[in-house]
Amino acid sequence: MKQIFHDEISPTNDENLPHPPSPLMGEGEGGGEYRLISPHLNPPPQGGRRFSGDIFFVFMWILFLPLILVMLVFGCKKSDAPGRCDYDGVKIEPIYAVYFTLQEGTEKKFCSIVCASLSFPELKSRIKEVIVVDERSGTKINASQALFVESEVVTVPHNKNRIHVFGKREDAEKHLKRFNGRWIENPFF
Ligand SMILES: [Zn+2]
Repeated sequence: MKQIFHDEISPTNDENLPHPPSPLMGEGEGGGEYRLISPHLNPPPQGGRRFSGDIFFVFMWILFLPLILVMLVFGCKKSDAPGRCDYDGVKIEPIYAVYFTLQEGTEKKFCSIVCASLSFPELKSRIKEVIVVDERSGTKINASQALFVESEVVTVPHNKNRIHVFGKREDAEKHLKRFNGRWIENPFF
C-alpha cells in the first residue's frame, strides 16, 4: 500500500531514488512517508546549481557588508553624541557643548555658554569641574584653561549664544578680529 502511494505522488523522480530505499530512510512505521520527502533532499541533477547559490551569498555579503558597517559607525556616533541640553532641551552640537561634572559623579550638559552660565549659580556648590569645547578643534578642555570671546556670530540660534570658546590664543584672536569680538572672562568662576 505504501509503495502505491509513493508511485502516485512522484512517478518522475522514481529513477533518481535508490532502490531498495537506503537504511537512513527507515524501514518500519512511516517509512513510506520518508520516501515521499526524499526526492527533495537528494541533490538536484544539475551540478551547477549549488555553486551559483554560493556566489549569490558572496554577492549578498559584498552588497550588505558596507551597509552594516555604515550602520555600525552611525550607531556609535549616535551614542557618542551629547544629546539634549539640561537647561532648555535643545539638541546639543558637540563643538558648542558645556559639561559640568558634579561632586556625586553625575554630569550636566548644555548646548551653549548661555545655558550653562544660567544654570551655574544654582549648581556652583556641587560642581567639581567645568569642561568646555574648543570650537576650532572640537577638543574638550577645562574652562579655566579656555579663552572666551563674544562676537557677532551666533552659535545656537535658539538662545542667540554669541560666546565662543577657544583653546589657542591665536584662534581666539583671529575670530575676535574677523567677527567684531571682545574678550570676556571665564563665566564659570
Ligand atoms: Zn541649552
